[in-house]
Amino acid sequence: NRQITLRSRPVGAPTAANFHLQETVVPSPAAGQVLLRSLYLSLDPYMRGRMSEAKSYADPVALGEVMLGATVSRVENSQHPDYQAGDLVLAFGGWQDFVLSDGTGLSKLAPGMAHPSLALGVLGMPGFTAYMGLLDIGQPKAGETVVVAAASGAVGSVVGQIAKLKGCHVVGIAGGADKCRSVVEELGFDVCIDHRSPDFAAQLAAACPKGIDVYFENVGGAVFDAVLPLLNTAARVPLCGLIAHYNDTALPEGPDRLGLLTRTILTKRIKLQGFIIFDDYGHRYPEFLSQMSNWLKEGKIKFREDIVEGLEHAPQAFIGLLEGKNFGKLVVKVAPD
Ligand code: NDP
Repeated sequence: NRQITLRSRPVGAPTAANFHLQETVVPSPAAGQVLLRSLYLSLDPYMRGRMSEAKSYADPVALGEVMLGATVSRVENSQHPDYQAGDLVLAFGGWQDFVLSDGTGLSKLAPGMAHPSLALGVLGMPGFTAYMGLLDIGQPKAGETVVVAAASGAVGSVVGQIAKLKGCHVVGIAGGADKCRSVVEELGFDVCIDHRSPDFAAQLAAACPKGIDVYFENVGGAVFDAVLPLLNTAARVPLCGLIAHYNDTALPEGPDRLGLLTRTILTKRIKLQGFIIFDDYGHRYPEFLSQMSNWLKEGKIKFREDIVEGLEHAPQAFIGLLEGKNFGKLVVKVAPD
């Protein structure tokens, strides 16, 4: 049983040395337990927070513990009345081949699901985050301008496509020409601007001639700096993530721009609201799942996965996620499905 544990806490960007790959014996299930084999492991930006000691909305991973993460897993051996060998489940199996479970937190996937890894992406936590953040907090109306950063990624790609379904003018922000091209040509956004371009702020302003009504915040940093002056009166800002800051070790040096931010929020009556998806919206998951399944069936929502083969490559893939190296929902294929 290969396991990847947290060897040390990163200072700044994580490195390979923060992780440790170890071999342990495959455990056997006791009565009431199932043995799960990970088929797909989801890699998500929130894991950076769990590598740090600082208390956040969830507890950190302890040193020496297996890195946590959602998995699509197969029941290998069941001593639990509700599960049979071969069942596919959504689990929190972590960065390892095998794990025991008493059934808590498991949910069965539909038998014969053609594409089980989607339960970690467009049909799972990231898709749900996009759906609730945009529709409940963003409240987009037809004809409005919606901007989303990390637009080719797991959350942003879904945000922009739902905003298009609602009749909005949708502007993506992504890193590099390939991502921007795919966001427009494959996902159907109206425009996508490269945040690495030297004249990024001017390009963004030109792409939003009527200002911004909804800004779905995934990033922070220089991207937010370019967005702030373009926000319209009564704009909504679902604050979903701040990936540009996850490796920060100190506050930036001045000038202090907090006054500018709060004055803009006040004078433009902007609604800026953070949310933690399952804590705030867990009760609406069934609604999301039914709506998103229909959209997928109808071809109204497209998805792109970035599948990395082999558990041993999870650390490097995760490090790359924080540098924009992934192109689509990042998933590790741990074993054949
Ligand atoms: P993505 O699949 O979008 O991957 C992360 C992307 O972030 C990278 O590919 C890169 O895209 C972009 N990025 C990384 N660093 C920077 C930077 N310094 N400046 C600009 N862009 C950067 O990840 P997810 O869709 O899974 O997550 C998106 C955001 O949503 C994250 O902030 C995450 O923490 C948050 N989130 C929040 C949840 C909640 O409950 N609040 C739930 C799920 C996700 P590019 O190359 O285009 O720059």
